[in-house]
Amino acid sequence: MPRFFRKNCLLCGASSDNDLCGPCWDSLSHLPPSRCPICASLVAESLVCGACLADPPAFAHVVAAASYAFPVDAMIHSLKYQANLAMAPILADLLMPQIDPLTFPDFIVPMPLHPTRLRERGFNQALEIARHIVKKTGIAMLPNVCKRVKNTASQTGLPWKEREKNIRGAFACEMDLTGKHIAVLDDVMTTGATLNELARVLRKRGAVKVSGWVVARTLKEDVDIKNRQSSVAAIDS
Ligand SMILES: [Zn+2]
Ligand SMILES: [Zn+2]
Repeated sequence: MPRFFRKNCLLCGASSDNDLCGPCWDSLSHLPPSRCPICASLVAESLVCGACLADPPAFAHVVAAASYAFPVDAMIHSLKYQANLAMAPILADLLMPQIDPLTFPDFIVPMPLHPTRLRERGFNQALEIARHIVKKTGIAMLPNVCKRVKNTASQTGLPWKEREKNIRGAFACEMDLTGKHIAVLDDVMTTGATLNELARVLRKRGAVKVSGWVVARTLKEDVDIKNRQSSVAAIDS
């Protein structure tokens, strides 16, 4: 490509053909390979984890692009809290290789934000990321059929067990989804309680399968560290 078409790497500023230069792309917080095939949590071997065995979630499986660590956490933060919408296609590009073209869902549902949160932020980061996935895959998106009817802003301060209780009844979905495979797209997955609750509602509407597509998966170790530093404010919102 001629020199004048080159851009600067969004992370380090080096001249690059892509949004991220090769070394920055390679340095992304990749997930360890040994993960639960359902919830993508860290396990010793790639077997279904104890939590999924004891209490199978309403979603079938989760694909995640990276762990919620630097620099991906900073990129998500920049999108959400600095309204840096230029990050959305880059985060979508991170997720794209994880999506199996042989098992495309019927619809993508971006994780809904509560209207109050949406008003404060001005946009739904999950929808902004989903937009680019839609453009690249041609999969239809249902941005408005599910609503977040309960504002769970306090979710971030809660211990894991409490989150599940707190999120109960948070979503309402009107459309008949009988026989459909739905992929729920979100920027960050922490405990999976939010995804599980939305999946439960989608299944109630007839969906046969719900997949989770998340840009970043917080591994338990990360959360524990962040809890100790009491800086979990960016998670699960
Ligand atoms: Zn770079
Ligand atoms: Zn699991």
